Amino acid sequence: MSISLKNVRIVLVNTSDCRNIGSAARAMKTMGLSQLVLVDPVEMPNGQAQALAAGATDVLANAQVVSTMQEAVKDCGLVIGTSARSRTLPWPMLDPRECGQKLVSEMNNFPVALVFGRESSGLTNEELQLCHFHVQIPANPEYSSLNLAMAVQTLSYEIRMNALAARKYATDDVSNSNSEDEYPVVEETERMYQHFEEALKGTGFITPSHPGLVMTKLRRLLNRARPDVKEVRMLRGILSSVDKASANKK
Ligand code: SAH
Repeated sequence: MSISLKNVRIVLVNTSDCRNIGSAARAMKTMGLSQLVLVDPVEMPNGQAQALAAGATDVLANAQVVSTMQEAVKDCGLVIGTSARSRTLPWPMLDPRECGQKLVSEMNNFPVALVFGRESSGLTNEELQLCHFHVQIPANPEYSSLNLAMAVQTLSYEIRMNALAARKYATDDVSNSNSEDEYPVVEETERMYQHFEEALKGTGFITPSHPGLVMTKLRRLLNRARPDVKEVRMLRGILSSVDKASANKK
């Protein structure tokens, strides 16, 4: 019996060397992953990428190309971003094993994504803030930056190991999807953040010329709480009432 990982999406952001895209495709296929999304690749996969993909040219051929990370993950209910080093703004961190477990336990509810950054500079802060969790491979602290495709291989292996374990322990009445947690997809949470920003500008809490870190901190707080669909709807309702109150005052 084969396991299906078709809801797990590997996203490569702004990759500069397309040979890494070919090697990543191979790494994915060996672990049973097939969904590859390329965000604004500097170089489109060419013959060299195909050579490195070897038997995984189908993964390359089926790769989707989009222009922003947000577009790549908008329909995902869980997004995990990779980082080779710790960032200034701490975010909930997972180790590779927990990352595999999280992706596998939620992949039956909605598409889930694992996002990889640029060879030179990783993911931007803005891109990292689109993620629910960050994952770091606990490499040698003196030299912790793996080659992009090697990082894809390591984390894909953990996804596979977790999927195999989940299948082994699954019984007919215990499913590994927790359908009671109906989490919103990225598109919905982004609309909520946009609403927050507009409403807080309306009340004067955010000054458009000096926005500060309000939105980043609010994102961090709400991300930590991980509101479900109904809670997001309630927050939007609260914001609409704030909008109305601000409009009445004017
Ligand atoms: N100089 C960059 C490193 C980029 S390495 C930086 O400081 O961020 C290219 C990509 O490989 C990273 O964006 C990440 O997706 C992945 N990667 C490399 N090493 C990693 C590690 N130790 N843990 C998690 N991801 C890693």
